[in-house]
Amino acid sequence: MCYAIPGRVETIEDRYVTVDYFGEKKRAINELDGLKIGDYIYAQGGFVIQSLPEPEAKSILAVWKETFFELQEMDLRLSRLDTESKGVDAKTLRILDKAAEGRELKPEELYHLITLETPYERELLYKTANFLRRKYLGNSCCVHGIIEFSSFCKRNCHYCGISTNHTGLKRYRMTDDEILDAVREAVEVHGFQALVLQSGEDPEFSAPKLAELIREIKRRHHCLIFISVGEIGIDGLKELYDAGARGILLRFETSDPELYAKLHPGSLLETRLEHLRKAFEIGYLIVTGGLIGLPGQTPRDILNDILLAKELHAEMFSFGPFVPHPDTPLAGNNTPDVELILGTLAAARIADPENAKILVTTAFETVDPGAREKGLMAGANSVMLNVTPERFRECYEIYPNRAHSHEGIPEQIETTLSLLRGLGRAPTDLGV
Ligand code: SF4
Repeated sequence: MCYAIPGRVETIEDRYVTVDYFGEKKRAINELDGLKIGDYIYAQGGFVIQSLPEPEAKSILAVWKETFFELQEMDLRLSRLDTESKGVDAKTLRILDKAAEGRELKPEELYHLITLETPYERELLYKTANFLRRKYLGNSCCVHGIIEFSSFCKRNCHYCGISTNHTGLKRYRMTDDEILDAVREAVEVHGFQALVLQSGEDPEFSAPKLAELIREIKRRHHCLIFISVGEIGIDGLKELYDAGARGILLRFETSDPELYAKLHPGSLLETRLEHLRKAFEIGYLIVTGGLIGLPGQTPRDILNDILLAKELHAEMFSFGPFVPHPDTPLAGNNTPDVELILGTLAAARIADPENAKILVTTAFETVDPGAREKGLMAGANSVMLNVTPERFRECYEIYPNRAHSHEGIPEQIETTLSLLRGLGRAPTDLGV
């Protein structure tokens, strides 16, 4: 994981560089020509995205130095694993001890953690996950921006408020200029270094059209681009990668093929998994995961979802709660319990302690306004801010009353940074 501050290149070996951040070493893939040892760079998601002049880098680092160590100290303090085990049974303690030692848990042990019932045991689970997050990944926290550029979708996922069957919905499709302007504002005005471009599966945005947009963004800005446009086809994936996209957000939603088929008429889980596998082969950073609390889902399914995300080489686990939309076939069902959501995030951290970025989704924040803090203290280390122009946001109603949809970008940034500072976390991709 990288920081949103300049790092100094220490070693270069083929495509890989080692970057020093105040003594902490991180690895990144370099795609810049002419990079040399001693150069200062910004890296995102494991990719070098920009080099910068030494005097500029040094003046940014001088401002950051003290804060960097203060944040680390606070994180260390808040993530200490005390040995308080009141109310925790012997089996749970044994499993959590094993996890805290960094040993891999068996699926049955992870299942035990997902199904913990007492508040004491759950508390210890969250603390263990947070301890592991700091131990392996330090205090960096991803803060990606997301631009939702079209609410048109040709698919009919039963849980989704913008599915094609929702005919009464007011929809929008941003023009190329509007998208480019939103990217410019996010990168140049607000300092984002990693952006997700998201839409429904909108036939108007073909792979060649998206590729042209991505090329234009890369021509104008230094930033890491993730695509989140559904199943664009294997050729489409290659085309967008060649254009400069380096990450893909594509959730499989459930690892149960029958439940998947029931919720996604005319679609197969295998097709989606094929996209994710090919995307990884092509070189994309994978962001994937599932919905927690789907009607008909069991804790065993959630365990399988976590294991599948790991098997798919998820760079970032995106697990969020099912939130029913009143105009969908799943209206009338309930959102899951907050403890189940937190338990899933914590179990995901324990399943992949050394590598995973774990996202606190907007859906979780919609269910519980305290979700960010709770999630970040239970193993998570990523958040996304909605940087779509405000006039469009209400129409991207995948579920009702989405958190932050009425907050301006500066307000979202301020609240997020203040929360991160309070927890001793440093944003990785929001240059501040
Ligand atoms: S979940 Fe995605 S693919 Fe499915 S209907 Fe909604 S926007 Fe379309």
